[in-house]
Amino acid sequence: MRTLQGIAASPGYAVGPVFRVTRRAPALPQRAIAAGDIDAEIDRFRRAVARARAEIRRLMEKLERELGPEEARILDSHLLILEDELTWDRTIERIRVEGVGAEIAFSRACADIAVQLRDTRDTVFRERVNDLRDVEERVLRALTGEESPAVAGPAQPSVVAAANLTPSETAAIGRVNVLAFVTDDGTQTSHVAILARSLGVPAVVGLGGAATGLDEGQIVAVDGMSGEITVEPDAAAVERCRVLGLQQRRVDLRLAGLRDAPAITPDGRRVALLANIELPVEVEEALARGAEGIGLLRTEYLYFQHHDIPSEEEQVAAYADVIRRMAGRFVILRTLDVGGDKVSRYLGAKREYNPFLGWRGIRFCLANRVLFKAQVRAIYRAAAAGPAKLMFPMVTGLDELRAARELCEECRDELAREGREHDGELPIGIMVETPSAAVIADLLARECAFFSVGTNDLIQYTLAMDRTNSRVSYLYQPLHPAVLRTLRGVIDAAHAAGIPVGLCGEMGSETRYAEVLLGLGFDEISMHSAALPKIKQVIRWTPWAEASELVSRLAAMGTADEAAAHLAGHIEQKKRLRHYREDHA
Ligand code: PEP
Ligand code: MG
Repeated sequence: MRTLQGIAASPGYAVGPVFRVTRRAPALPQRAIAAGDIDAEIDRFRRAVARARAEIRRLMEKLERELGPEEARILDSHLLILEDELTWDRTIERIRVEGVGAEIAFSRACADIAVQLRDTRDTVFRERVNDLRDVEERVLRALTGEESPAVAGPAQPSVVAAANLTPSETAAIGRVNVLAFVTDDGTQTSHVAILARSLGVPAVVGLGGAATGLDEGQIVAVDGMSGEITVEPDAAAVERCRVLGLQQRRVDLRLAGLRDAPAITPDGRRVALLANIELPVEVEEALARGAEGIGLLRTEYLYFQHHDIPSEEEQVAAYADVIRRMAGRFVILRTLDVGGDKVSRYLGAKREYNPFLGWRGIRFCLANRVLFKAQVRAIYRAAAAGPAKLMFPMVTGLDELRAARELCEECRDELAREGREHDGELPIGIMVETPSAAVIADLLARECAFFSVGTNDLIQYTLAMDRTNSRVSYLYQPLHPAVLRTLRGVIDAAHAAGIPVGLCGEMGSETRYAEVLLGLGFDEISMHSAALPKIKQVIRWTPWAEASELVSRLAAMGTADEAAAHLAGHIEQKKRLRHYREDHA
C-alpha cells in the first residue's frame, strides 16, 4: 500500500480498479512538397480544418444533449483555436517556406503556440495547452484520414487514469462505470476538473506522472476531498473510504436540506451567503448549494476564454445570462482584474518585476478606457435583465474611485442617449483589498454603495507575502493581529457610513473561519459554492454574541499562531459539546 498526493478537484470517495486511458499519437508523415503542389497542400490543410470543425460541432451537440448548453460551451475554445489566425498563418507559412507537408507544418505551429502558452504564469492559459493538443490531434487525424480514437469508457466500474484528459475525451467517457478520474496534469480550474464536478464524479488531478504510473486493474482508493490516492489499499483503507463516502453522502443530504433555509444565527443575526464564480457554467452549482446571490463574478475569465477581447455584445450576452439564471438573486460583477498573476498578453499587459504592485485591476482599466468602457456599458446593459451590482478591484484611493465612477456616468449617459435598455440605478461598490483602501475606508465608504473585502490580496499586501510564492505561503495568516484589526476597521467604517460589507476572499470558504467572520460583523460572505452548506450550518449553530466574544479574544492575541491555536481549541470544544448534546438528545 502506498499513497500519492494530488490536487483535490472534485469531491467524493471511490475505490476500484484502474482503467487506463492511453492514446496513440497520430502519424506525422515526412513528405517534401514540391513548389507546384504547395497550393494544393494548403487546400488540403483547409479541408482538414473544416472537417475537424464539423466534428467539434457534433461533439458540442452531444454534450449539449447530455449535459446541457453550458458544458457544451467548454468546447468553444477548440473552435477558437481552429479559427485562430496565428495558427493558420504559421502553418501556411511553414508549408510555403519550409516545403513540408501540412501535418508537420501544423504540428510545428501548435508546438510554437504551446511554448508561448506554457510560458505564461496564468493557469487558465496553461490549461489551453491541453485544448491545443486536443485540436492538434483532431486536425492531424483529419489530414491523415485516421479515425479519431474513440476514448471509450470502462466496461466495469473503474477509476479512470490518464496523463491528461481533454474536455472532449472526458465527455466521451461520460459517467457510466466511472468511479473517479485521476490525471497527471491539471489544476482545479482545468476542464477535466470542471466537467468532473458537473458530472458529480470525484477527481484528483495534478498527480505529476503518478496517474500514468498506475497499472491497469490495480485497485486504488480515491479521496476527492483531500486529493490523496491510496494504491493497493488494505482492508482498513478500503473501509475508511467506504465510511467517508457514506458520511459525506449523509452530510450532503442533511446539508442539502438547508438549501433554502436562511443563514441566521440562533440569536437572530442574518448573514447573506453568496457564491464566487469564474464562469457562467458554475451558476447551476451555486443555486443547487443555496447561494443567495453571486458575490463575485470574476469577469476576467470571460476574457481569458477568448483569444480576442470579447465585444460589448458578447459581454452583454454572457453577463445577462448569469443574471437571468440567478432568477432575482443579485450578481456582483467585478470589472476586469488582469495583472498580478493574471497576465494576459493579448490585452497588452507585460511581465513586470513586481506584478502584484504593478499594472493591475482598476489601474489597467483606467489606462485602457476603450476596453473599460465596453465592459462597463455591457454591465449596465446586462443589469436590465435582473438585480446586479458593479464592483471595481484594486482601488487604492478616491482618485481612482472617482475616475471610474465618472466613466460609469459617461457610459450611462451614452446608453440613455442611444435609447438602449440599461439599469441606470446600478449600485457601484469596491473591493477593499489594498491596505490603503482599508486605511481610508471611511472616505471611500462615503462614495460607494458597498464594500467587498478581498482577503486574498488584502492579506498578501498587509503581510507583504506574495500569494503565488510557496516559500512564503506560511505567512498567509488570516488571524494575524494586523489582518484582524484591518478587517475590523473596514467593517466599522462601512457600517458607520451605512453601507453593507461583504468578504469574497478564500478565507470565506474555510469552515474554521466562519465564526470569526460572523463575529467580526460581515453582512455577506461569498465563497466557492461547495463550501456554502457547511458555512451556513456553522452560522445557524453559532449565536452571534458568542462569535463576537471569540473575535474579541482573538484580537487580543499577540501573534497569528496564538490566535490559530486558540481558535482550534475553541472549535474542538464546541465539537465535543455538540456531540455530547447529540448523544444525550
Ligand atoms: C481577493 O483578492 O481576495 C479576491 C477575491 O480577488 P482575487 O482572488 O480575484 O484577486
Ligand atoms: Mg483580489
